[in-house]
Amino acid sequence: MSGTVMIRVLWINDDEGESARARRGLESSNAGAVVEVEPCLPSDLANMLREDWDIFLVDFVLSKPATPSGEGYPDEGLAAAGRIREKVQDRPIYLVSGWVSSDTPVPDLFDFIIFTPDLLRDGRKLLRQDGLDYQQVRRAQKGTFSSVASLLAAPEESCDALRQMLPPTMREGFPCRNSEVKKEAAPLVLSPVLAFSRWVRYQLLAYGGPLLDDLRAATLLGVDEGYFGSKLSQREEIADAVYSGVFAGSQNRWWRSLLCKAAFSAEKAQAMASARPSEVAPEVFGVPQEHRSECAVCGAGLPETVASDEDDVEVVRPVHVSCSRPDPTRDAPSLFDELRLFESRTNGKNTGA
Ligand SMILES: [Zn+2]
Repeated sequence: MSGTVMIRVLWINDDEGESARARRGLESSNAGAVVEVEPCLPSDLANMLREDWDIFLVDFVLSKPATPSGEGYPDEGLAAAGRIREKVQDRPIYLVSGWVSSDTPVPDLFDFIIFTPDLLRDGRKLLRQDGLDYQQVRRAQKGTFSSVASLLAAPEESCDALRQMLPPTMREGFPCRNSEVKKEAAPLVLSPVLAFSRWVRYQLLAYGGPLLDDLRAATLLGVDEGYFGSKLSQREEIADAVYSGVFAGSQNRWWRSLLCKAAFSAEKAQAMASARPSEVAPEVFGVPQEHRSECAVCGAGLPETVASDEDDVEVVRPVHVSCSRPDPTRDAPSLFDELRLFESRTNGKNTGA
């Protein structure tokens, strides 16, 4: 791989001072990739759209008061994003906002939402990595499932599951670069590149399924999350199970199939007559008793799943299926792990600290 990859970012912002100051912190040039950030006033947008950009950043509130000469920026971020999407179908648009919280649902027009301070703090790495990932997805339009599997760096053991979970239009890869994307009456049709990227970011990486977050991975292997993070994940065969495909981001995800394989391929596992990784792994890896996984509700061992505290869905703990219930208000996408709730300890008899 020689040559330098350019990642060009257009930042639509009506505060020229802010974007000029910030761009120095966002631009980078290392490991063969150069990130350029070009500030753009809403009034210059039409002009700038003649050029090719990798990522658009749009400030949500474009509402600078009109200048004395009568010029102003009546565009709101949504309108600016709409104008971008009319002209450019396969490049991501990120909403930048100082007051939208990170769990605000991403409006359809936007591919990602980022809190302004986070952009200023982590933007350099984020723009570089996302820019490279989107370029990789764009290049992979070969119309075969294997191109999808290679974008995800998927192990063979997970390919059948992935194929079933992918939206039907993507199961055999994307349409080839030159094939027509069927346009419906709706003005906004997501290009295959963006549709696939959103599926990876907001389904595959967001829910338990072929990939697991640290807590789910720890629970699968029958250990507590701290032990998984500090000890088990350092072992070579576990480290190899980490997701390294597109949009891997900063939080680890683990291939369920490879974690199971790591547990069952050890010699000691052959002698155990169990098909449950949570029983086998702690023995195989010599996990101390105090670091074995426990149900947050009953305290007994071998919880099979994880669930959210019904009083605060952000609090997720390992639980038995029988100690939890399906969440009636939230659905995981089809074929991903069901979202469950457990009864908060503070609600019941266990009111102690
Ligand atoms: Zn339990």
